[in-house]
Amino acid sequence: MESNVRVRFAPSPTGPLHIGGVRTALYNYLFAKKNNGTFVLRIEDTDQTRYVANAEQYIIDALKWCNIPFDEGPNTNEKFGPYRQSERKELYKKYADILINSGWAYYAFDTAEQLDAHRKGYEAEGKTFIYNWHNRNGGNLVNSLVLPKEEVEAKINTGENYVIRFKSPQDETLLMEDEIRGNIKIDTNTLDDKILFKGDGMPTYHLANIVDDHLMKITHVIRGEEWLPSMPLHVLLYKAFGWDAPKFAHLPLILKPVGKGKLSKRDGDKLGFPVFPLEYTNEVSGDISRGYKEDGYFSDAFINMLAFLGWNPGTEQEIFSLEELIHSFDLKRVSKSGAKFSPDKTKWFNQQYMQTKSDDELTELFLPILAEKGITKDKKFVLKVVSSIKERAVFVNDFWDLSNFFFSTPKEYDAKASKKNWKEGTAELMKELIDVINKIEDFSSENTEKEIKEWITAKEIGFGKVMQPLRLSLVGKLAGPHLFDIIAMIGKQETIIRLENAIEKL
Ligand code: GLU
Repeated sequence: MESNVRVRFAPSPTGPLHIGGVRTALYNYLFAKKNNGTFVLRIEDTDQTRYVANAEQYIIDALKWCNIPFDEGPNTNEKFGPYRQSERKELYKKYADILINSGWAYYAFDTAEQLDAHRKGYEAEGKTFIYNWHNRNGGNLVNSLVLPKEEVEAKINTGENYVIRFKSPQDETLLMEDEIRGNIKIDTNTLDDKILFKGDGMPTYHLANIVDDHLMKITHVIRGEEWLPSMPLHVLLYKAFGWDAPKFAHLPLILKPVGKGKLSKRDGDKLGFPVFPLEYTNEVSGDISRGYKEDGYFSDAFINMLAFLGWNPGTEQEIFSLEELIHSFDLKRVSKSGAKFSPDKTKWFNQQYMQTKSDDELTELFLPILAEKGITKDKKFVLKVVSSIKERAVFVNDFWDLSNFFFSTPKEYDAKASKKNWKEGTAELMKELIDVINKIEDFSSENTEKEIKEWITAKEIGFGKVMQPLRLSLVGKLAGPHLFDIIAMIGKQETIIRLENAIEKL
């Protein structure tokens, strides 16, 4: 049965979704599913100056790839819709007016120049300018708390630019509770009178966010630590409206792999890993940013890795399916301190997931890569190849490098290995080996191994003298799976061709 737990992921469509955003979405999703609740996607697009047209679709595609679908959102089950704030524009003024009428908010007419002059004046005295009870009731800030009512109306009617600010309380101690951080105490004198509504008819993030969380019946606000400083204002806004506040949980930051601070795109560029789930093309510059999907990550491995960036199950288990994550997830086990991102651990997760995928599934992923190279081997053959190499692969994209010798004769031979292992007399020895191979009837891996080894033993020479040049001839380097498996796979004729090629070239 559906519970009343309702959470939301509320990104602003200002660009591609950073993995920190994906983690926020994931934790909301896990929390909702664990509690039989509802996961809502709300697009917070009130800031027109930062709006990027392809960003919303990117967010939706990313959640889809991650397999964490929303229950309600734009064009999906719009029970409390619309779910795009720009389409709810008409609604917010009413709420700003409620606060004006109850004395919790006021009109301010200060121009950017006036505010700047104030700021500079404070700075000159070594102080920081906070727009609140310190200065809003006197001095020369121009607002409806100091101007006569008629003058305020006249200014509004003549279209003078205004904003509506929240009137933060004076000399109060605000007690708040965060599900992850516990009790938080704040002195309201340190808060500034944040802008709630702008003269262009648009609400700011703070007002729209609170009004929508209320109207959409959100019970838990789970979001990044960067929103913690907004929590006092949000709690006060609920109080001002007389609404019950949801519970809050502020997730820890995702930190750089090396050095201090928040993980940024620059870290990814520098150290060579993506910070976005999907590839992203900047609409203006045309720049392309790498994505986990295109880099060859399995979405379940990516999600498993993200789940562990800030949460742990309290046991040694690290590999969790989405179902297991839902079952085990608990906000109480989310840490307060930042989580260091590790590109190596991310790869490790992918490699672990690689081993859990069936040969069949991996073969389906490898076949198109082979087709692109003009290789059309039957699926049964490719299945065998995949099964023999997957243990050493991190990505499906590694398959070709690990297996090309199954499909084609080496075009070149590792120089160092050739020098060391292809000596005087090797060519003659390989010619003799060709004769031996020619006579082998049962060309299974076991039998070729048995017959070739018997021949080497009878000749009373070291195994390496034959095996290394043989591997070099078949693979081109001293790498790859069990040699006799390769021989059995490529067959007698191809084995001989490759030996002849090597004799000619080395
Ligand atoms: N629109 C905000 C963001 O971009 C939402 C913050 C919140 O969840 O309250 O992250």
